[in-house]
Amino acid sequence: MNLNRIGTLSLPFLMLFMYYSNAQQNASGSIKTLYEIEDHVYLFQGGGTWALNSIILEGKDTLTLIDTHFSDENNLALIQQLKDTFPNKKVGTIVISHPHADHFMGVKLFKDAFGEIEVISIEGERNHMKQTAKILYNAYQEVSPNQLVKLHEIVYPNKQMGKDFTIHFSDRVAQFELVDQNESWKSLIMYLPDTHLIYLGDLYWGGLTLDIEGFGASLILWEKELRNIMDRKTGKIIPGHGVGLPSRDTILTFLDDILSFINTSKAFIEQGMQREDYITSDFHKEIIFFGGREMNLSQAYDEIKTAIENEKN
Ligand SMILES: [Zn+2]
Repeated sequence: MNLNRIGTLSLPFLMLFMYYSNAQQNASGSIKTLYEIEDHVYLFQGGGTWALNSIILEGKDTLTLIDTHFSDENNLALIQQLKDTFPNKKVGTIVISHPHADHFMGVKLFKDAFGEIEVISIEGERNHMKQTAKILYNAYQEVSPNQLVKLHEIVYPNKQMGKDFTIHFSDRVAQFELVDQNESWKSLIMYLPDTHLIYLGDLYWGGLTLDIEGFGASLILWEKELRNIMDRKTGKIIPGHGVGLPSRDTILTFLDDILSFINTSKAFIEQGMQREDYITSDFHKEIIFFGGREMNLSQAYDEIKTAIENEKN
């Protein structure tokens, strides 16, 4: 920055500039800052490779947390910042958006810090949660050298919801909707009807994971469900992972990319393309696959092939 220019900036503007510079630096570091994104709604975007997002709803007496972090470092940082920001309020409820351990590994640390907490998630997903905890535990150890949460200490939800529900906080209301993304991977999304803020959980984080050691996610249903969700009016959009907030256009472009990926795949498979050729082909670079192209593409091939056969019958 040109030093001569600083002289012409007012102090509040300079402070604002420094704040955003810091926010930018933090984007690549591991510690993040809790901030109020809307009245009584706080966002904490975690650092490190997982870059998870947590939302805090401030009630008159207690706090509701939506999704914890994966690494001890991020969970402890969030706990400390909550204690500093709300010295007289405890986290009374945690909502886990979907049964993947990167989003619920921290529940134990919040209970250690705040005492009894009601932990809400999706009915019928407990086994799925336990299995993802096992699968992801090595990754947790890599980002948490002190391993403050042992595998047998992971805290699972004590309240399981089989339908939509609401949580009131201050003078606002949060709607939690159950999205049946596919047979094995359900998700809760949160919508604030007054400002249209939406939390998408892992229905959007900039990429796709079609198979986590056999759990799978349906490419066709993913596109369909997310498009249904985006049919409504949206305000601020918060993804399950990532730095900053994606715009509505970014998500619609992502959906178009998936759809064209599906349609191109269909055409190739209908023309008789074999599995091995499909997996090694490089016809669609826009989509980021988490966990490797080969695993994801073989999952996509099988799903789309089955869909074509089902359409014929
Ligand atoms: Zn996730």
